[in-house]
Amino acid sequence: MDQDAPAGIDPTTPNIARVYDAALGGKDNFAVDRQMVELGRQVAPDAPDTARANRQFLRRVVRELAARGVEQFLDIGSGLPTVGNVHEVAQAVNPHARVVYVDFDPVVLAHGRALLSNDHTTIVTADVRDPDLLGHPGITSLLDLRRPVGLLMFAILHHLDDDEDPGGIVARLRDSLAPGSHLAISHFHLPVETAPELVPEIQEGERLFNATLGTGRWRTRAQITEFFGDFELLDPGVVPVNDWRPEGNEVRLFPPTHHGIAGGVARKH
Ligand code: SAM
Repeated sequence: MDQDAPAGIDPTTPNIARVYDAALGGKDNFAVDRQMVELGRQVAPDAPDTARANRQFLRRVVRELAARGVEQFLDIGSGLPTVGNVHEVAQAVNPHARVVYVDFDPVVLAHGRALLSNDHTTIVTADVRDPDLLGHPGITSLLDLRRPVGLLMFAILHHLDDDEDPGGIVARLRDSLAPGSHLAISHFHLPVETAPELVPEIQEGERLFNATLGTGRWRTRAQITEFFGDFELLDPGVVPVNDWRPEGNEVRLFPPTHHGIAGGVARKH
C-alpha cells in the first residue's frame, strides 16, 4: 500500500501491526515497515520468521481450544488480517464459534471489515489498557462473558512497558472470565532460566527493536508465567512457541531466535 496512504496514516514511521504484516510477507505495509524487518534480519537471519512461528502457535492453540469446547474467542491485539485468522481456525472446528477481534490500530479495523465473512465474527477498535474494555458493546453484543471464553493475547503484552502495568491489566481480564475459560499468551522472551548463554545476543535484538519501533519488552519465563496468575497451565507450560505441541511442516527457528518468543495456555478453574 505504498502509493496511497489513507488519511491519518503516517507512511514514514514504522507501526507494530504493519511491521508484523511485513514479517509475515503481507501487503499491508510501507517501505519503512519492511526496513524494520530487514534490520531484524541483521540481528539473526531467521528473526522475521518469529512472526510465522507465532502464527503457527496461534493456529495450534485455537484449534486445541475449539476442540476442548471453547465456543467464544476474544483476540486482543489481533493485528492485520492474515492467513489463518482466528475465526477461520475456530470455525473450521466449530462453525458456531464466535470471535471478537480487538486492536487499537484503526488500520486493523479498516482491513478487518473485509474479512467479516459471517455474523459470528466482529472487530472492535479498543485499547487493552482501557479498564472498561470488556464492557465495549462490540464485545458484549457477540460474547456472553458469563460463559467460558478463549482469551487470546498473542504478541501484544510485550508492547506494554512495565509502568503500563501489563500484569494488572491481565489480572483484571482474568478475574472477569468465567470458569472454564482459557488464556493464551505469546511474548518476547529473555531465556535467563533456560538458555542464559543466549541472553546477550537476544538483548542486542531488544536494543535494536527499541531504538526503532520503541515498544518491545523481552521478559523472562517467570515473568511471562506470572501473567497466567492462578490459572492451570496446560502441558508443556510456558515454552518457546515452536516447542508448544509442534506439528510437522512448520517453520523451525534456530537459537537465539528460537528462544526469543515463548508462550503458553492456561485454564481457569
Ligand atoms: N495477535 C497477532 C498475532 O500474534 O499474530 C498480532 C500481533 S502484532 C505483533 C501486535 C498487535 O497488537 C498490533 O496489531 C498492535 O496494533 C496491537 N496492540 C499493541 N498495543 C495495543 C494496545 N494497547 N491495545 C490494543 N492493541 C494493541
